[in-house]
Amino acid sequence: LSGWLWSTVAVLLVVIFFGYTLSVVLKQRRLTEVQRDFINNITHELQTPVSTIRIAADVLQSDTIIQQPDRLKQYARVLGEESRRLQKQINSVLQLARSERSGFVLDKTDVDLHDIMRTVADGFAPYVTLDLAATNAQIMADGYHLETALNNLIDNAIKYCDTTPCVILQTRLEHGQLIWSVSDNGIGITPEHQKAVFRQFFRVASGHTHNVKGFGLGLYYVQQVIRAHGWRLTLMSKPGQGSRFEIKSERVNVRMSEKLTQNYSL
Ligand code: ADP
Repeated sequence: LSGWLWSTVAVLLVVIFFGYTLSVVLKQRRLTEVQRDFINNITHELQTPVSTIRIAADVLQSDTIIQQPDRLKQYARVLGEESRRLQKQINSVLQLARSERSGFVLDKTDVDLHDIMRTVADGFAPYVTLDLAATNAQIMADGYHLETALNNLIDNAIKYCDTTPCVILQTRLEHGQLIWSVSDNGIGITPEHQKAVFRQFFRVASGHTHNVKGFGLGLYYVQQVIRAHGWRLTLMSKPGQGSRFEIKSERVNVRMSEKLTQNYSL
């Protein structure tokens, strides 16, 4: 019996060893693929605005441009837009590098989510509609990260849309908790990709997506911001119909504001 036992144990150990080695090799291979995609992607993404800036700068230096105020303005606008795009892309990579190095350090204060939503929506008019609950929307949050995360979600909602984008920022109260969401009428995300989209550098491999610029870092960042705050993020999406990113947060000063409402109603 003991001989049989030992051979079973030996076989089990061999199976575990090979299983483990295989999983390490597969993980390594996936990392290499992700790294290669990222480098290809980043090279392409950074090269495009740099080339456009160089061309616009060459045109602006030509002798005849000064006699053509309309073209002059047009190229100056291109310079502005492309350098802003470049800045945005560099920021997203720096943001990631910073959070990888020192973790997510939040500077939380008492902020009004509705005010932040109004400010962010203004930047994306006319595509964004607000549907805000008539309630206190004070939450303890890092205003900068919250605003950037909202920007990323709206930016995606507009990018991944075949028709005219229609994005709704909504807040509502449920069992005393503040639920807020960003919904779109875009291309949607298939169920098998709904987890993966939150991974670093992941982009859905479809022709459509790759016509659209991106590093695959936006949702990873959003997820980090939500987790660092201790909130919950849920993604609901149907291919061809749209997506909804929903977040649950605790409000602050609830008792005070509710008392105030009671007093007013007396
Ligand atoms: P990026 O937009 O830079 O590719 P993200 O991390 O923001 O990176 O998104 C990862 C992927 O998830 C995108 O490439 C896209 O395939 C998909 N995705 C994100 N947001 C949406 C959305 N609102 N609708 C459809 N697909 C989306």
